[in-house]
Amino acid sequence: GATIGILGGGQLGRMLSVAASRLGLRAHIYDPSPQPPAGEVAAKVTTAAWDDTVALRAFAAAVDVITYEFENIPTATLDLLDPLRPIRPGRLALAVSQDRVTEKEFLHGLGLSVAPFAPVNSLDDLNAALDSIPAPGILKTRRMGYDGKGQARIMDAADAPDAWAAMADAPAVLEGFISFSHEVSVIVARGLNGEVACYDPGENVHDGGILRTTTVPARLSTAQRTDAVILAGRIANALDYVGVMGVELFVTSRGLIVNEIAPRVHNSGHWTQNGCAVDQFEQHIRAVAGWPLGDGGRYADVVMENLIGDDMDRVPALAREANVALHLYGKPERRAGRKMGHANRIVAAKG
Ligand code: ATP
Ligand code: MG
Ligand code: MG
Repeated sequence: GATIGILGGGQLGRMLSVAASRLGLRAHIYDPSPQPPAGEVAAKVTTAAWDDTVALRAFAAAVDVITYEFENIPTATLDLLDPLRPIRPGRLALAVSQDRVTEKEFLHGLGLSVAPFAPVNSLDDLNAALDSIPAPGILKTRRMGYDGKGQARIMDAADAPDAWAAMADAPAVLEGFISFSHEVSVIVARGLNGEVACYDPGENVHDGGILRTTTVPARLSTAQRTDAVILAGRIANALDYVGVMGVELFVTSRGLIVNEIAPRVHNSGHWTQNGCAVDQFEQHIRAVAGWPLGDGGRYADVVMENLIGDDMDRVPALAREANVALHLYGKPERRAGRKMGHANRIVAAKG
């Protein structure tokens, strides 16, 4: 079978490796950290820095296709790998999603709604931006943020100096605060031949910028559900996307507003492991390996709950519960705010 090269060996790389193995393929992880969670389950692991050209060349030579579990791979790393092996999803998806401004311009260009936004490179910029996008708002670093890191809330203009200081001189973007009724996401898959399959949208609850739970089905009308999957499919087509992508949406009285896209398997798609015949991880491996997409139809109502930090104390109790599937990442060190695993609770078989 083919070997799938995966950049990044966190929990997403780990679950991708399991899926590859189940399809008779081999996963080869590349990660700078010595004991990545994916390391225990992948067929092979390379521990080397993102700028280790010798290790990168050897990695490319050992794999048939390259994918990734996070979007912040350095550009120089991708430039080196690009001519050697196909990178799926491709460079365009990465370039667009690595920078929140590029991403919003791209989405706006597709005719989709996004939060009002303005690039911010100084406190003067921020004060000027607050004239056209009045508080409340959120200042975010343009690059590298995840789980709500690199963000500062601006409740009124007086918060500007503190918010700018929190960016530590990194290029930032001011976003107007969207008053949404709830948040949903679409996990969309696109195959090498352009076929598209969307999972049923999930409803997401965040706490302090970090995902707590995803519930399927989401509270959406039939029309909203259609809007959500069509816009996700349009984004995937426009990027000539191959693989699985997460599209985060705000549900508002003025329609769906796109928060951000993630060019990879997504935390809000973990419910598919126990709600669908083919989950997002298998779907992603199928897509990047050039296989037909699988059946992502949902057969159960599921609540996915992230196990963060001390939530791990609940594992023994969860392990005794009926209709709960545990997915633990084998991370050696527990830390506050660190995703250690998740539990998928099957609430009902789908009628
Ligand atoms: P992820 O781990 O999903 O990549 P992130 O660090 O990129 O997170 P965002 O998705 O930008 O962060 O924001 C995290 C959460 O903060 C959102 O899911 C939403 O609840 C809230 N949020 C972000 N931007 C806005 C906004 N413009 N208006 C209202 N709420 C927002
Ligand atoms: Mg994000
Ligand atoms: Mg997000």
